[in-house]
Amino acid sequence: MSMEVAIRSIQHYMYCPHRWGLLEIDKAWAENAFVTKANLMHDRVHDPERSYVSKGKKVYTSVPVYHDLPEYNLYGVTDCLELTRDSMGVSINGSAEKYRICIVEYKPTKPKDNKYHEEDLMQVFAQKLCVDYVFGSDCEGVLYYADVKKRVALPLKENFEMCDQQLRQLLKEMRRNLEQGVIPPIRKGQKCSGCSMKDLCMPSIKKPKDILDEIRKIQEAEECL
Ligand code: SF4
Repeated sequence: MSMEVAIRSIQHYMYCPHRWGLLEIDKAWAENAFVTKANLMHDRVHDPERSYVSKGKKVYTSVPVYHDLPEYNLYGVTDCLELTRDSMGVSINGSAEKYRICIVEYKPTKPKDNKYHEEDLMQVFAQKLCVDYVFGSDCEGVLYYADVKKRVALPLKENFEMCDQQLRQLLKEMRRNLEQGVIPPIRKGQKCSGCSMKDLCMPSIKKPKDILDEIRKIQEAEECL
């Protein structure tokens, strides 16, 4: 059986594999304003008391989902599932009515240049796989940006094959690194703005490629003196 992977760790890996390695393998962590803001929002959304009916939709928050076939073996919690009555949908827990399901993932801020970050698309895609596996559905997914109070529909069905291939590849890499205990090196051109781990990682300090090689060079230089 393949190693279980938390859906949120896929985002970490996509954002920066080195950061993911520090979090998963070194278990290092540093909070900053971005993380705290996101955590507060998650605390609110993940209140299990918050299941309600809104505009004719049944809304469930903090729904745990999983997909335990070995090619995925994923688990996570969706911020919110919206159920809309639809004769073409699926029944939930044996209900007589059928519903269309939509995942709503909350994000504090909308990206400046794009409708969504690729890692957020992948996060909701992984959630979709789990939701569809659990409920037998073909659900949709949207991001809700708190700063602009807007929803953005994600092209999950249109890009299914591409996302699926990318996800399988990511899971393969992540599991290989976890099994071997490897923290991936800092990626060339890595964007670090807003990263909560800057103080631990110190990306601007050039690390010697080979420490033994550096020592050898110093010894050789000393011998020449
Ligand atoms: S500071 Fe940059 S390189 Fe270091 S973990 Fe954060 S994003 Fe990655």
